[in-house]
Amino acid sequence: MKNSTRKPAFIPSIYCSLFGHDYEISKKVTKHVKEYTCCHCKKELTTNSNGNLIELTPKFKEINNILERIHESRMRRLKRKSFASSIC
Ligand SMILES: [Zn+2]
Repeated sequence: MKNSTRKPAFIPSIYCSLFGHDYEISKKVTKHVKEYTCCHCKKELTTNSNGNLIELTPKFKEINNILERIHESRMRRLKRKSFASSIC
């Protein structure tokens, strides 16, 4: 009996080591900090405070969540400020 159902098994990490990761922006944390995900192996990266790309560890995920919250509240305050100054 022939085994005809055999498919070439591509292991994503091998693809990435051959062709490199294919990162897409998965989340915008702030204007400068973004999270990236490789669409082949799902490896995640983030931008650190120096602007370098580093691996997105649970610790950095937590930092990014805090950053995102600070950024959001700052943007909200900025909007309110410009609204108030347009009245005065
Ligand atoms: Zn990859």
